[in-house]
This record gives sequence, structure tokens and C-alpha cells, in this order.
Amino acid sequence: MSDHACGSCSSSGSGCSSQDCSPEDMKLKKTLSKIKHKIVVISGKGGVGKSTVATNIAVALSLAGKQVGLLDVDVHGPSVPRLLCLEDQKPHIGHEIIEPISYSKNLWVMSLGFMLPSKEDPVIWRGPVKIGLIKQFVQDVAWGDLDFLIVDCPPGTGDEPLSALQTLGSDAQAIIVTTPQGVAIDDVRRSVNFCKQVGNPILGLVENMSGFVCPDCGSIHNIFNTGGGEALAKETGVKFLGRIPLDPEVGRSGDEGYPIVRVDHEGITGKALNAIIKPILNISETLQENLKMPSVNDLKAKNGMIRIAIPVAGGKLCMHFGHCEQFALLDVDTVTKGVVATNMETPPAHEPGILPRWIADQGVNLVLAGGMGAKAQSLFTDAGVRVVVGAPAESPENVVASYLAGTLVTGQNTCDH
Ligand code: ADP
Repeated sequence: MSDHACGSCSSSGSGCSSQDCSPEDMKLKKTLSKIKHKIVVISGKGGVGKSTVATNIAVALSLAGKQVGLLDVDVHGPSVPRLLCLEDQKPHIGHEIIEPISYSKNLWVMSLGFMLPSKEDPVIWRGPVKIGLIKQFVQDVAWGDLDFLIVDCPPGTGDEPLSALQTLGSDAQAIIVTTPQGVAIDDVRRSVNFCKQVGNPILGLVENMSGFVCPDCGSIHNIFNTGGGEALAKETGVKFLGRIPLDPEVGRSGDEGYPIVRVDHEGITGKALNAIIKPILNISETLQENLKMPSVNDLKAKNGMIRIAIPVAGGKLCMHFGHCEQFALLDVDTVTKGVVATNMETPPAHEPGILPRWIADQGVNLVLAGGMGAKAQSLFTDAGVRVVVGAPAESPENVVASYLAGTLVTGQNTCDH
């Protein structure tokens, strides 16, 4: 289940130069390399408001000035054209490229719905066709440079969401949408486990239709139990992004094709949606912050010491993080900025997710690496370990000396798998 974007090397970024990549794989990689954040909106089952949430997130991000793509690959009922009042639009199909529909100057939309002869026709796709379509809609659409691609995925934990995640790569993050009832919660538990098995990070959980906004008095009445989503988020270690009430205005906005975030800024629902979007907007800034080279003082010292780890092969920094023989662990005095001890440690056998945990257990604050995949970087960040990529293949002592002197020059992330 770990076969991501590039069939030959599991790479999802632009770093792959594998000879085995097919022209299609290369095209997909090129498209994905221009997209900073891929967010897949999934749900255990249909009708929980997944498309509504995906659409409002995309519109809110565009209103915040981001370049956004919204891709609707819900083969069972593509509803984004209706939600955005774009039902009559037909994308221009050029030579091997499809132009997305421009909703605004910085929001582009593509939906399977645009391709259907009539909205009354039931959508009957055979399995392999569905899978191929999802890949095609990522690779053959002229998305251009995007801050965010929001993907409205088919519901469930079957082949289609799996294919969407595999197409987008292991750094695509999932938002799981649920409703508060117990039965929906069971579905979400499956969705959480699904993402964990596929190996994609979960950005968070949204509880939709959580309490009813009374049109007469404006207050919230809890029809179903609330808090189930939040409790499940806690139980599974997933971030709870927030709850959106069942609001007749949301239903109306969906039917009439105007996203609620465009009109409701101060109401209960508008505020709820904006609270959900905040951490999504922040992932850009947090990522940018994390990519900067931290100074010794930025790292959390313990008893005046920090520990730096360097992957080593043949006595030098190993450019392929996962292929190193040993790690050099260098302890640095934060006052004198001198190395006081160097230990060579052999890591456990390389399996996904093992090294970040092991490194964190060694008390490491900073990893200086040649190259590292986006997924591994996010695992380190989660474990509280900073990562700098693009360091040169020199001895660990030289690399650390340059880092401490402030003269470490980093190049490209040399390996993205
Ligand atoms: P899904 O994509 O999960 O199938 P949709 O986003 O299409 O679900 O939503 C299903 C229906 O529920 C739509 O008619 C939509 O307008 C409505 N809906 C979604 N969220 C809310 C909400 N918070 N309040 C009121 N109606 C909602």
C-alpha cells in the first residue's frame, strides 16, 4: 500500500530522476512539483458534507490570497459544479492538457461533473476507469503553480480514495469529515486507520452538522450528540480542526451555488469555518519556518547542550538519508558553540517511520541531511526534531563545524524518496 506517485521510486516531489519513470509518471511529477500543499478531503461515507467542506475550504483559502486548485473526483456524485454555480461550464481540452475552470482570479476548478453529458445521467464507471480518471485529472490538468490543491475525494476507504492518495504522493494530507452520530464515528475510525495504513499524514478532523442553528433564535440546538468527532480525534491522536453546525443557510448556499464563506463572516457558521481554515493556512507558514536553517539558539537545549545527528556512509554525510550505515551524534555546548562529544550509532533496520522515532529517542534536536522525502521531514517535525536538507557529502565534523560557524551552504534536496 505504499506505492505512491512515481511507480518506480515512490517519489512524489520533483527530485526523482529515475530512468524507470514513464513519460506519464514524469508528467505527473512535474505537475505535483508545482503544488505546495495537497489536501485530500475524505469521509467514511457520502452525505456528511465532504464536498461542502472541501469547497468552502478552497474558497476561503483563495479569499486569503492563496493560489488554489479545487479538484472534484467524487465519481459517485461530483457536486462541486453545483456548489459553485459552475454547472454549465465546459473546460477547454487542448493537446494532452485540460484547462481548469477559473472561479476567480486565484481559484481554479476541475470536476468530473464538467465532463458528464448531462447532470441527470447516473455516473457508472468501471473500477479501472475510475482509478485512471483520478490520475488523469491530476496530471493532465493545467494547474500551474498552486499554494494548495484541495481534492474532493469519493467517500469510503476503497480503491478510489486510495488511488487519489497514491496519485498525489505521500505528502498529501487528509482532512476527514464526519458527522457527530455514533455510526458516522465508526466510519471515521476506518478513515483514520486507512490514512495510517496508506502512510499519508492526517491534517485533521472536521465534525460537520454538529448542532442545529435555529433560524428563529440563532442559537444552536444539539439534535444529535456532539463531541463524538472531537473524542475520536483525541483517541486516535488526530488534530481536531473544529465543528460546523447544521445550518439551513449552508443547505441553501449549496443549492443556489454560493459558498457560505463568501457571505457569512460573523455568523456562527462563518466563524466556525474560518477557525477550521486557520491551521490550514498556517501549515504554509509553519513549513516555511521549518525550512529555514535554525541557529543553535533556536533549538531546545538540555543542560546547555544540543545534539546534532548526521546520516553517515563511508565516513561522510550520506546523501540518501534512508540508506545510511550509521548516524554521527554530535553534542554541542550552546555557550562555547564547540563539539564536546561525537558518537557513532547504528540505526535499527530501515522501515517507514522508524528512523524519526529512533532519532527523537536519542535526544537529537537537529538532523543535517543531504536529502530526505517530504513525509520523513514531516515525521521529524512531528517528533520535535528540526531538519536541514541539502548539506554536502563531507565528514560529519566538517558539516557541523560549518553549521556552527554559520557558513554551511545547503543545496538541493538530493533525494526525495
Ligand atoms: P458529501 O460530499 O459528503 O456527499 P455534501 O457536501 O454534498 O456531502 O452535502 C450533502 C448535503 O448536505 C448538501 O445538500 C449540503 O448542502 C448539505 N450540508 C452539508 N453541510 C451542511 C451543514 N453544515 N448545514 C446544512 N446543510 C449542510
